[in-house]
Amino acid sequence: MWVQCPVCSGIDVGKVSSSNYYCWNCLVEIKYKKGNEAHIYNIQDDGTLESAYKVDLQE
Ligand SMILES: [Zn+2]
Repeated sequence: MWVQCPVCSGIDVGKVSSSNYYCWNCLVEIKYKKGNEAHIYNIQDDGTLESAYKVDLQE
């Protein structure tokens, strides 16, 4: 599966789990949802995820 970061459009994206990815450029976790929607999470110092915003993916 070809994954691009929906924030920076970069391809420096690593897979975390089946629907979660990590952008090494933005340092955020990306969780893909149904309906062409991606949620962006900031990773806090203690390792927990803070919901930041969502992105509507363009086809
Ligand atoms: Zn990115």
